[in-house]
Amino acid sequence: MAGAELIGKEEMKEVQDVLETGILMRYGFDKERRGIYKVRQFEEDFAKYCGAKFALGVTSGSAALKVALTAMDVCPGDEVIVPAFTFLATYESVLEVGAVPVMADIDETLNLDPGDIERKLSPATKAVIPVHMCGSAAHIDRIVEKARSRNLLVLEDNAQGCGASFRGKKLGTFGDMGSFSFDYVKTVTTGEGGMVLTNNRELYLRSEWYHDHGHDHNPSVPRAMEGRTILGFNYRMNELQGALGLAQLRKLDGLIALQKKNKKAVKDALAEVKGVGFRELPDPDGDSATFLCFNLPSEDLRRRYQKALKEAGLDTVCWKDNLWHYVPNWEHFLARSTANSKRFPFESPMNSRPPVYDRKDIPRAEDILGRTLTIGMSVIMPQERIDGIRQAIARAARAL
Ligand SMILES: *Cc1c(COP(=O)(O)O)cnc(C)c1O
Repeated sequence: MAGAELIGKEEMKEVQDVLETGILMRYGFDKERRGIYKVRQFEEDFAKYCGAKFALGVTSGSAALKVALTAMDVCPGDEVIVPAFTFLATYESVLEVGAVPVMADIDETLNLDPGDIERKLSPATKAVIPVHMCGSAAHIDRIVEKARSRNLLVLEDNAQGCGASFRGKKLGTFGDMGSFSFDYVKTVTTGEGGMVLTNNRELYLRSEWYHDHGHDHNPSVPRAMEGRTILGFNYRMNELQGALGLAQLRKLDGLIALQKKNKKAVKDALAEVKGVGFRELPDPDGDSATFLCFNLPSEDLRRRYQKALKEAGLDTVCWKDNLWHYVPNWEHFLARSTANSKRFPFESPMNSRPPVYDRKDIPRAEDILGRTLTIGMSVIMPQERIDGIRQAIARAARAL
């Protein structure tokens, strides 16, 4: 739950600043707002924290993905390579811009396998979306290198890896663009919200225009007189979200340090269990430690251990069985049940080949996720809770 656990006085103070002016919108009202620009400040602080040039606050992580894909001109006729293990929103965002997602395999990091990009390419491939699942990095250096060699754009879906890094560089800054989510269960929360990150001025401006109906945000004229650029929509973050984000961002490094400490205590107990292995972390120091993922030698043993853990009082997640994070389980997606009667973009004549979403194309995901269990970490874990988890781990080990 991370950031949500820490909501307190700091968030109240930031939100109160906004309520005292009554200006809830990020743009305009320059006289009435008395110098308070929370979203703008949050964007500046967030960009600085991540080491990126530009950040744009938006309404959600899903919106961030859509805004970024739009800025990158991903559109009908294009294919985008997306790992089989991710939240549904990554696939939906590709469909939202009229392109088609192509499902790719994962590796021992549980994230996109750089080696599978080659196999999933077609002349229509425009971009790849590596997703840093469960707070830890993909082999992002290799993914970016592979994408560059094929002239593909890279959008990092870093909804789950806020604050995590790879070799000292924050996730979300490796590709052409990065996206973040601040929904209620993410590492940093603004209730609902998201961020788009980039070092590319052109991509930033296109994002900024698109997310606010094409307003050019010319500071020397009133909002109603601003120039029109491209057609867009409304994905604007509001000032209350910006205020929450500012307070939460200041807590991020401390929060990660606490999660790491808790994670280590649980991991040490699991390491004692015969046959247990761990998810590969390309850079353990850069882990944001929101989740602990471990594996067993076979799917059968995983089932047995998961059941024993549950009986001992510890709930775990198997992502292969999860209904929202693994493509083969999305029956409405597999049935092409888009919200329009023409099944656009799946059945668009602009798309050259019908996509296939077959378990056979993702053998490593089928194997690894079937053997993997995940425990969610909290920021606040009293010693009794950690002791309870450690006892459950040891007791359940007798079932193996
Ligand atoms: C949460 C999440 C999203 C979507 O973010 P929302 O803010 O909930 O819209 C996208 N991708 C991944 C991997 C996520 O976990």
